[in-house]
Amino acid sequence: MKTSLAVEFQGTQAGEEAEALIGKCVHCGFCNATCPTYQLLGDEMDGPRGRIYLMKQMFEGESESLDQIQFHLDRCLTCRNCETTCPSGVQYAKILELGRATVSSKTRRSGFETLARSVIAAMLRQPKLFKAMSGMARWVKPLAPKIIRKKIPVARKPTLGWPDQKASRTMIALSGCAQGALAPDTNRAAAQVLSRYGISLFEVSAAGCCGAVDLHTTNEHKGMEVAKKLIDVWIPHLGEIEAFAMTASGCGVTIREYPHLFRHDPEYLEKASRIAEKTLDLAEIIEREIDGKPKSALSNQLRQNKLDALYDRDPDMVCTANIGCQMHLSDPGRPVHHWIELLL
Ligand code: SF4
Ligand code: SF4
Repeated sequence: MKTSLAVEFQGTQAGEEAEALIGKCVHCGFCNATCPTYQLLGDEMDGPRGRIYLMKQMFEGESESLDQIQFHLDRCLTCRNCETTCPSGVQYAKILELGRATVSSKTRRSGFETLARSVIAAMLRQPKLFKAMSGMARWVKPLAPKIIRKKIPVARKPTLGWPDQKASRTMIALSGCAQGALAPDTNRAAAQVLSRYGISLFEVSAAGCCGAVDLHTTNEHKGMEVAKKLIDVWIPHLGEIEAFAMTASGCGVTIREYPHLFRHDPEYLEKASRIAEKTLDLAEIIEREIDGKPKSALSNQLRQNKLDALYDRDPDMVCTANIGCQMHLSDPGRPVHHWIELLL
């Protein structure tokens, strides 16, 4: 879709980035099939295609109601499911980030909403405060009105311990997230599973939050401040560890996008990129470990079976037509040859 930028956005970073990103969308609507809000609400404006269109209109200066745009953008879960089904590779989350920042710079939320958003973000940013508050929620919850009772999260107590961290391979997990209070067993369970693969998992408590809370509530300035703190705490560990293991996938996505977040910040761009490169989702780590080990065990067993069969009749020479097999089956005392050598 071509975006004809309104004069106020021409020559601006946000305008030019939005124009390039929106330009990739062909308005086909495939993305709606995987959008949970569209599936639930059935409203075009609550699906990715409709939201992109609303943002395009805003950057063209044609939108009638910025409040309506904000309403529909607020309803987006930022889950990015839509990106997985877009045949054109549209980076929806980046358009959304620009759209949310732009619409929030042009509109005013009510005082109550602003306060509520700031309080929630501040609490989520402070793990200790969040833990204390969600611990208190256990007592407050029964007294709360029914409509908000379900929304009050209650801190859980850990039931798992940390394993002995003696393995030489090490990884760092994020600890400053709300997950630490609401599901404290998650990192412990991850540490226990990773220890089976010879990996020690540590937390660095000073790291705090990844910044996603502020970035997703259009407080980019604060989000970058929080992200910088994490980068500064993690960067000295970069050489000691194999990966930053993300047990909360949303945080992992945010950290992997630090290079984009700091694209205009020469002081942090390189550090952010190095951190992002070493950030892996826990599922990727486990998959890598599972893929690596059983595959090589399987491969070894297959090789042994093949060798047993080949040498069963005590041949003078084993030959093959394939260099891969030749290398795989050769042993120092029993080289495998190419068949052409037999014709010499
Ligand atoms: S975002 Fe992708 S899938 Fe959705 S309408 Fe645009 S091109 Fe089609
Ligand atoms: S990020 Fe999630 S909720 Fe938002 S438009 Fe995409 S699929 Fe829908």
